[in-house]
Amino acid sequence: TVAIVLFTSDLRLHDHPPLHAALASSDEVVPLFVLDPGVEAAGFAAPNRRAFLADCLRDLDSGLRDRGGRLVVREGEVAEEVGRIVSETEAGVVHMAAGISGYAQRREERLREALSSVGCRLSVHDAVVTAVAPGSVVPSGAGRDHFAVFTPYFRRWSGEGLRSPFGAPRKVRVPEGPGSAALPSRAGTRGLSPGLAEGGETEGRRLFTAWRRDGLASYEDRHDDMAGDATSRLSPHLHFGTLSPTELVHRARATGGPGAEAFVRQVCWRDFHHQVLAARPAVSRSDYRPKQDRWRTGRAAEADTAAWKEGRTGYPVVDAAMRQLLHEGWMHNRGRLLTASFLAKTLYVDWRTGARHFLELLVDGDIANNQLNWQWVAGTGTDSRPNRVLNPVTQAKRYDPEGAYVRRWVPELAGIPGSAVHEPWKLPREERRRYDYPEPVVGLSDGLARFKEARGLD
Ligand code: FAD
Repeated sequence: TVAIVLFTSDLRLHDHPPLHAALASSDEVVPLFVLDPGVEAAGFAAPNRRAFLADCLRDLDSGLRDRGGRLVVREGEVAEEVGRIVSETEAGVVHMAAGISGYAQRREERLREALSSVGCRLSVHDAVVTAVAPGSVVPSGAGRDHFAVFTPYFRRWSGEGLRSPFGAPRKVRVPEGPGSAALPSRAGTRGLSPGLAEGGETEGRRLFTAWRRDGLASYEDRHDDMAGDATSRLSPHLHFGTLSPTELVHRARATGGPGAEAFVRQVCWRDFHHQVLAARPAVSRSDYRPKQDRWRTGRAAEADTAAWKEGRTGYPVVDAAMRQLLHEGWMHNRGRLLTASFLAKTLYVDWRTGARHFLELLVDGDIANNQLNWQWVAGTGTDSRPNRVLNPVTQAKRYDPEGAYVRRWVPELAGIPGSAVHEPWKLPREERRRYDYPEPVVGLSDGLARFKEARGLD
């Protein structure tokens, strides 16, 4: 008997329930990845993620080859390609991870229809992409299909018994027939951020092992230290599924301590946003809690947005973070919070504009985490204090107290010592002139007044 394992956002061999189930019940398995032009057409295949994906597919193929198998890569519409392989191999079942976004849910539907017409079964596995499956913990009350508030979700999520992670298989027998397209390669991808991280399960596991040894214990104290760069940087691996969230939670809990607890809480934030998106796929575009926002548009707003994207707003910490994004395709969480707040609440530009820019660059760019964090910051999402505005100067002094993060990313200000780097406009005029750095695009009190007026706040 032959089974197909369709890989999507789960590009790993360890703790992979669909692969595990396929190997347990079939003699031969076709590990399949489909490069679907639909993803490209939806604007989701940004260069940084395409390059990271190429690394992941190469590593998956090499892991399968070590086990006697190989990865089959096809290009085309996913249901059609799977259908072709079903007829080539007479596979009786296709195993895959449950889809979360609207796109993934529709893909699952298309596959189900296409397969049922050829008498093949679709077996969908939960808790592959997330540790706890969306919809499996819900608040009490009729018709409630997801949690809208994080803290009660976290409480329930923490009480869920997670399955024990599966090891990687020893052997994978792949039938000879199905041919594969060439594996994509990072080398052929244009427009990459120069400091882009490397993808693949091997690299993800190496990173996690090193970070668990060196970073986890101090995570709680240091996760907001922008210059210290002390977070795990596992987000692209979680996005592409080269690491299993279930396995990370197990291993962090086994280590124990406040750092591990704080880390597990962040992984829960990821599950939280995924369960909101799974229940309300439209929030990828529309407000979760609609506000009467009349976002700024027109020339001035466009110029402000361009300055924000390029990292020349005149607010050093905002510019540093936006330049980190351009350079690495990744940004520190504190930077994401304060740059998003700056765009949506100080410049008062629609969060969708910012979310789109992030998705063009972020290697971990993820519909659930990106759109819902943007909404959280913009105050249209699940934040219980939707009108709080982060002051970039206060934030900078708190989370980059020595100014080292700013000097790293805004080298034209490297000559300003200590936290004075956060307010170059306060320097004596003569000294200020020495730095080729813009004046603030807007005064913070003007921005705040505009926001309050727009939202009808006192
Ligand atoms: P760590 O601090 O080491 O956390 C461990 C893991 O927990 C992360 O890898 C991530 O998977 C998860 N996590 C941490 N914080 C959050 C959070 N707030 N929401 C959801 N999951 C979280 N994260 C993405 O993965 N993709 C995105 O597209 C994305 N866009 C964001 C946009 C904005 C405006 C904001 C404020 C946050 C966004 N985040 C996004 C969440 C968070 O900033 C990143 O997950 C984190 O910075 C990744 O770095 P890390 O792996 O070192 O995180």
